[in-house]
Amino acid sequence: MQFIDLAAQQKLIRDKIEANIQAVLAHGRYIMGPEIKELEKRLSEFVGVEHGIACSSGTDALLLALMAYEVGPGDAVFTSPFTFIATAEVISLLGATPVFVDIDPHTFNLDPEHLERAVTALSKSSSGYPLPCAEMSRLTPRGIIAVDLFGLPADYDAINAIARKYGLFVIEDGAQSFGALYRGKRACSLASIGCTSFFPAKPLGCYGDGGMCFTDDTDLAEAMRSLSIHGQGSHKYENVRIGINGRLDTLQAAILNAKFDVFSKEVDLRQEAALRYNKLLSGRQNGISTPQVPSGMQSVWAQYSILTKGGNHRTEIQGRLKDAGIPTAIYYPRPLHLQPAFQDLGYKEGDFPVSEDCSQRIMSLPMHPYLRAEDQEHIAQLISEG
Ligand SMILES: *Cc1c(COP(=O)(O)O)cnc(C)c1O
Repeated sequence: MQFIDLAAQQKLIRDKIEANIQAVLAHGRYIMGPEIKELEKRLSEFVGVEHGIACSSGTDALLLALMAYEVGPGDAVFTSPFTFIATAEVISLLGATPVFVDIDPHTFNLDPEHLERAVTALSKSSSGYPLPCAEMSRLTPRGIIAVDLFGLPADYDAINAIARKYGLFVIEDGAQSFGALYRGKRACSLASIGCTSFFPAKPLGCYGDGGMCFTDDTDLAEAMRSLSIHGQGSHKYENVRIGINGRLDTLQAAILNAKFDVFSKEVDLRQEAALRYNKLLSGRQNGISTPQVPSGMQSVWAQYSILTKGGNHRTEIQGRLKDAGIPTAIYYPRPLHLQPAFQDLGYKEGDFPVSEDCSQRIMSLPMHPYLRAEDQEHIAQLISEG
């Protein structure tokens, strides 16, 4: 069994993918070919925002968003420690300081109440919340990167309200949530800039690296587009800012155009698979908690993650599944504030107890649109056996 079965999808749309690739080989515009514009138009319409800017990865999408806000040394950006490294890495890469905020134990996303406490503590240089040690009195609170972990949107009504109150920007890290819903709106439209990733294993993945920024703000859109092409101005050899080589390849756009044709159908299939897991796993004496989705939201189930009783229980379940040839994964075994790369921030164990507890207990089960019901039944059986 595959953790994410990309071959099953490819089998269904192989002809379309090959035709789209052939078209690129025929016209030869490998950089910024017409497939890029087509993809940007289709995805921004789907998300419900004015502008989509294709770029080289989800990481670069986040980087471009921060660069558009001119984030740099001395700036503080609030984010979750329970996420993939890229979310916080881009903050540090620009010389700014990530300020971690603990998560809600039910959604695994930023806890808005903690967020406000962190913002207040930083503004007043007080000890009301664990803060990075380095020169914290001189940091300027600039913005928030909220993460839609496992495909479930964070609580943007609360997060955006806090941002307005303190004059902060909000970037949505929707690398895992493209296709999800929050109170009738699509993920990637829930903050001033939404960023997603087309890494192969994401809900909408290409066959390499890729990403996109979404926004309704024309100035930010213009800045991000320019930044993704070496700070290009009105023509190719006019450079108005320092940027990056951050374009999406035409071939990847062509592949994504083929995959997007079946995406809505796949979102429905993911939802069905998740509900089936919920049904199979809940109400049994297995000691695990199934994922919770607050009312008004729909996850796109980039991961189906359960909470076990603890480290030993998790190892036991993983072992049983592995023996039966069923792969599982742990996202994320170590929260970012305890990663060596962020050691200079001076955080310590105990600073974010919810993230630390979840990292010990979380595990993700095989999840993709073509998961078979009988395989899920088998998985649920093995989990509940112990
Ligand atoms: C995958 C991921 C990224 C980075 O995307 P890449 O396309 O791999 O660069 C950023 N944030 C989160 C939450 C992710 O899951």
